[in-house]
Amino acid sequence: MRMKSVSFIAFLLTASSWGCAPNQEPPKETQPQKPNIILFIGDGAGLSQLSTLWYFGNSSPSYARFSYIGLSKTNSSSHKITDSGAGATAIAIGEKSYNNSIGVGPDSLPRETILERLSNLGYHTGVVATSSITHATPASFYAHVKHRNMHDDIAQQLVQAPVNFFAGGGTKFFVRRADGKNQLQALVDAGYQMDTTSIDQALSGNKIGYLLAHDGLPKMSEGRGDFLPKATKKAIDHLESLGGPYFLIVEGSQIDWGGHANDMPWIIDEMADLDLAVGVALDHAAGKPNTLVLATADHETGGFALSPRVVQAFGGTTQDDYDHLEPGFTTGGHTAAHVPVFASGFGAQTFAGTYENNLLYHKMVALLGM
Ligand code: MG
Ligand code: ZN
Repeated sequence: MRMKSVSFIAFLLTASSWGCAPNQEPPKETQPQKPNIILFIGDGAGLSQLSTLWYFGNSSPSYARFSYIGLSKTNSSSHKITDSGAGATAIAIGEKSYNNSIGVGPDSLPRETILERLSNLGYHTGVVATSSITHATPASFYAHVKHRNMHDDIAQQLVQAPVNFFAGGGTKFFVRRADGKNQLQALVDAGYQMDTTSIDQALSGNKIGYLLAHDGLPKMSEGRGDFLPKATKKAIDHLESLGGPYFLIVEGSQIDWGGHANDMPWIIDEMADLDLAVGVALDHAAGKPNTLVLATADHETGGFALSPRVVQAFGGTTQDDYDHLEPGFTTGGHTAAHVPVFASGFGAQTFAGTYENNLLYHKMVALLGM
């Protein structure tokens, strides 16, 4: 009985808002908005790197809050082991490409990235990284160059890219260039409000950008502070203020650098920082059914393992102490291990399973039709 009267009221409300006319289309503003997508990439963040959150953190990590988990197979079109260019490019263009590629296919010709595609569909977009903003991972979403080391070209392409918010380092690629051009001025001329001093500076307008270091931002242990969670929050707030759906890519860039250096404390610090940024997005998306939060990696770095400490035992032998973790590394480079994909919110269930990294693009695009 109670159910009946509730549905009757719902019918009345629906009927009156549609004006009761037969075959009349609902007004435009009642049509559901396309989903917002917030994509985190932990560069080099394999399962052991993620596990440090649980073993070395002091509270339950944000990553524990995701509802669906998948595995991404990371090889590139050219190698069993990917670099960060091909790793991000596969996610950005939906096609595996060769190591060192940025936003181009195996034929080294440009492909439309997910950021550009969504922008063409009316999305606002943002890019955040703790490296230079021209580094391989962020660049793969807005630039198209044959090789990741073409930083000057990538910087020039950012000026014309459909990016409404960016924050990261890399000032030198805008103002100390081989061609002598001032691309920081070019950003301003293209309509960007820019700041080169602090993520705390307030900026407004359709396009805003923060370039906060000569190259990469400092490590956490050298004073980066809360740049990443703050930039994530600013990006979300800015993109929401513009109205309409948005796509945001946030990279924890330096987990990879800690892996290359075989430096566990560096990995632990950078992983924890990314976890805080993920928490900002999950907090924001809570109770908003039209927002998808994804967190994945481009590849694993270091062959990193949480190994047992080896201790001296009786009679000159050694034994494993299973109660003390020590870093184990098998390489100063990347590995071929699958990486996890965490998903929460709109369409999250479609990210469960095991699949090639380029399918992340296709899964995101498929959500637009849901
Ligand atoms: Mg990277
Ligand atoms: Zn790397």
